[in-house]
Amino acid sequence: MIIIMHPEATPYEIDNVVAEVEAKGWQTHRSCDSGQTIIGLQGEGQPIDPFHLGQMPGVEDTMAITQKFKVTSRAFRPEDTTFTIGEVSIGSRQLAVIAGPCSVESREQLLETAYAVKEAGATFLRGGAYKPRSSPYSFQGLGEQGLKLLAEAREATGLPVVTEVMSPPKVALVAVYADVLQIGARNMQNFDLLNAVGQAHKPVLLKRGMSATIEDLLMAAEYILAHGNNRVMLCERGIRSFDNKYSRNTFDVNAIPLLKELTHLPVIADPSHAIGVRRHVPAVTLAGIAAGADGLIIETHPNPDQAVSDGDQSLTLPQFTDLMDHVRAMAHAVDRVV
Ligand code: PEP
Ligand code: MN
Repeated sequence: MIIIMHPEATPYEIDNVVAEVEAKGWQTHRSCDSGQTIIGLQGEGQPIDPFHLGQMPGVEDTMAITQKFKVTSRAFRPEDTTFTIGEVSIGSRQLAVIAGPCSVESREQLLETAYAVKEAGATFLRGGAYKPRSSPYSFQGLGEQGLKLLAEAREATGLPVVTEVMSPPKVALVAVYADVLQIGARNMQNFDLLNAVGQAHKPVLLKRGMSATIEDLLMAAEYILAHGNNRVMLCERGIRSFDNKYSRNTFDVNAIPLLKELTHLPVIADPSHAIGVRRHVPAVTLAGIAAGADGLIIETHPNPDQAVSDGDQSLTLPQFTDLMDHVRAMAHAVDRVV
C-alpha cells in the first residue's frame, strides 16, 4: 500500500501517519515529488484499514500496489528518478554514454581509451577490474590495481568511473575508487550483494540477469531501494534465447519501454553484451535510444582483436567516434541530447 499525503500536509501529520503504520509492524519508505509526500509500506505488518487511514489528518488518498515491486514502481513515485553524477544528470533528457573496455588491462590501454571516448563525447568511463568469467582459467581482472588505473583515468579525463563489484566484502573497496557500482548479469540475484550495495552511498548500475524476467529485475532493484539507495540504473544487456548461433544474446528492446512504464528508475541499454558482434553494435545502440533508453554502455578498445575479454563485441576507438555521430542524430530524433 502507498499513502499519498496532501500537498499541504504538515511534517507532524506525516510523522503521525508513519508512526501509526510502523506501530502495526510495517516499514515505511518516503518519497517527496513536487512537495507531495508518498509513504510506501514494506514488509509484513498487521492488516491496515484503508478507510481509517484515509481519515487521518493530512492523508489525501491510499492505494494498494498490486505489483510485487513497491518502491521501485511508478505508483510509488510517478515522476522519473533523476540524479547527477559528475556533470551528467541521469534519467533526464540528457543521455548518459558509458564507454570503455570490458576489462582494464593496462595503464596505456585504459588511458588511450579514456581520452578517445571522452573526445568522442562519452560521459562515463567503464572498465572491469573484477571480472565474472565463465571459466576460472580466463583472465579474472587486475583487482585493486585496475581500480587505481580507473581512478587515474578519471583524474586525467574528468570522466566518472563505472566498474563492477562481484562480492559483498569488496563493496567498500570498489566504492573508494568507483563513481558507479556495477552489478553484473550473473549477480543480479545475489541478494547479499544487492543488500551491500543498497547500503553503500554510491549509485548502482544493475544489469539484468541473462534469464531474468522484467519482474525479477525490478525485484532485484527493490532490494537496493529498500535500503534507501534510490540511485539505481537498470540495464538491459540481452537475454538468453534459443538462437545463439549468430548473436551472443537477444537484445530485449521490449524491456526498455516496459521498464519505463513500470518503474521510475532510469534504463540503460547495453548493445555490446546484447548482440555480442562488433559490426552490429551500432544498429542495436540506435534501437536502444529509439526505444527510450536513458543511456548506453558500450565496450570500446584500442585493439579489440587483442582484448583479454569481449574483443568480438568491442568497438575500435574510431568506430566509437563514428557511432557517436549517429547517437547524436538519433538522440535528436527522439528529443534527447547527449
Ligand atoms: C561487462 O559489463 O563486462 C559484463 C561482464 O557484463 P554482464 O554482467 O552484462 O555480462
Ligand atoms: Mn564485457
